[in-house]
Formats: sequence, structure tokens, C-alpha cells
Amino acid sequence: MIKVTIFNEYKHEQNNEKAIAVYPDGIHNVLKGFLECDEISVRCVTLFDKELNIKEDIGLSDEVLSNTDVLIWWGHVAHTKVPDDVVERCHKHIMDGMGAIFLHSAHHSKLFKKLMGTTCNLKWRFPSKERLWNINPAHPIMQNVPEYFDIGLEEMYGERFDIPTPDELLMIGAFDGYEVFRAACTFQRGYGKVFYFQPGHETNPTFYIPEVQTIIKNAVYWAKPLYRQSFGAPKYEKVEL
Ligand code: ZN
Repeated sequence: MIKVTIFNEYKHEQNNEKAIAVYPDGIHNVLKGFLECDEISVRCVTLFDKELNIKEDIGLSDEVLSNTDVLIWWGHVAHTKVPDDVVERCHKHIMDGMGAIFLHSAHHSKLFKKLMGTTCNLKWRFPSKERLWNINPAHPIMQNVPEYFDIGLEEMYGERFDIPTPDELLMIGAFDGYEVFRAACTFQRGYGKVFYFQPGHETNPTFYIPEVQTIIKNAVYWAKPLYRQSFGAPKYEKVEL
């Protein structure tokens, strides 16, 4: 059983009519809906409660993270409201082997920026048509993903995307203004596998698109830890041959 924890900011889907219309129960519940199966269990946590107050306890305790194989992150307008100790805790678990998937505007989350060590800035415009090209079809995350598919309207994210060179580049997004974007990238940080995937603006039904769901589900299987251990820096005694 792969244990997934979804963090969703959960503000737009409670105070923006367009987002409410697309995701009436929140983005997290749509993600949960297509991920949950015999092999994957899903827990959801949110930053905002139903009264649109920021929760004192988001629910990303050491105990929860120790019982999480893959953390999925969606946030946008309240990245700075995520407490630093939560970010530090998540970062440590990723370094120790927990997988992490960052969706769309999570590129500017404290946690992703800490993992990348760069600004993670990019160009943006809304709305724009997007075509996503699968440029690494042999990769596990690209299984059952066609050569290309169209998203309809999505937010344009354009290069330069200020990230370190990814370990693997899986997809390039092409937009109607001829902008291009590294839309699906993998990184290893510590023992943890990290995946960034660009589509997923809150007012568009992107997370209902079958190809998008396939990619995120494949990424869960890919990112699950095969080895999980805290780093140390031990003095190492010689072992005689
Ligand atoms: Zn957006």
C-alpha cells in the first residue's frame, strides 16, 4: 500500500466562484478521487479551514509524515503562511526518502524553493492554450501517456523557469504565444524523489483530464521510497579485508 498525503492550500475553491464551480469540494478531493485504489491510500490536509481561517495545525506532524510515502503539494496565494517548522519537517522527510510531487503554482512554495535552492520564478499569463509533449516516453511517469495531448485553457508558464537543471525532463509545454516550458521534471534530493508538473490552474478543469491523472498517478508509483533512512555523518572505522 502506498500512503499518499495531499496538502492543498484550499482557499480559491472556497472564495473564487470560478474555482468553486470547477472544484466544489477542493482540488485535494479530485486528486484523492482518482488516486485512491487498492494500492494507494490518500490522506488530505489543508491550510485553510471551512471558515477560511488558517489552521493552527495543518496536520503535517512527524507522525503523519513518517506514515507518508508520497507528499503531493498544491498551493498558490498563501505560500508564506505555511509555517517554517512545517517546511523544515517536510524537507527532512524528503531528504530521508519520502517522495514529493509539486503541482502547478506549488513551484513558489517554500518547500519547493528550499529543495531547488533557486527563486523558481517564471513567466506567466492567463489564460492560454497548451499542448504538452511527451519527450521521454520510456520513463516510468510517462507510461500510457501519448506523444502529446492538449489541455485546452491553462495558465501559461514560460521559460526561463529558474530551477536547477532537472535530473530528467519528461514533458515540454507549448503555448499559444509560442512560449515553451519544462512542464514535467524530476529531481533527487537526499534519498527523496521529487517531481514537478506544471498544469493545474485552479479555475480550469485540468485535474479531470485523463492524461493528467495518469501522469500524477504514475508519479506516485515512481516517487514512493525504495529506501528511507536519516542521513548521518559518522566517523567510519576501517573494516579489515
Ligand atoms: Zn495558476
